[in-house]
Amino acid sequence: MVSKCANPGCSSPFLYFHQGKLFRIELDAPGSEALDIDTRRARRRLEFYWLCDVCAPSFTLGFKKGVGIVVLPAPVPVLPPLLAAEARSAAVGHST
Ligand SMILES: [Zn+2]
Repeated sequence: MVSKCANPGCSSPFLYFHQGKLFRIELDAPGSEALDIDTRRARRRLEFYWLCDVCAPSFTLGFKKGVGIVVLPAPVPVLPPLLAAEARSAAVGHST
C-alpha cells in the first residue's frame, strides 16, 4: 500500500486520502502478454500510487515498459472548459 509520495525526490508521507492525488493503476502480471485477454484481465493486479498535494500539480504518473511506474512532469495545465473554448475561437478568428 501507499506509504509516501510517488515522487522519488519527495518524502511526504501518505496521511490522508483527501490530500494530493491518488492513482489507481492496473498492471498486467509479468509474462501475461501471451495469454488470452480474459486470463490477462483476471491476473491483473491493482496498485495504488499517491502524489502529495505539493507534487500533484506538477507531476503525473506514467507506465514505462520494463521499468514500471514512473513520475513524469504534468502535461500542460488544463484550462477550465469555458476558457479553453474562448481561446480556441479566438485563435480561429485571428487566423483569417
Ligand atoms: Zn510529493
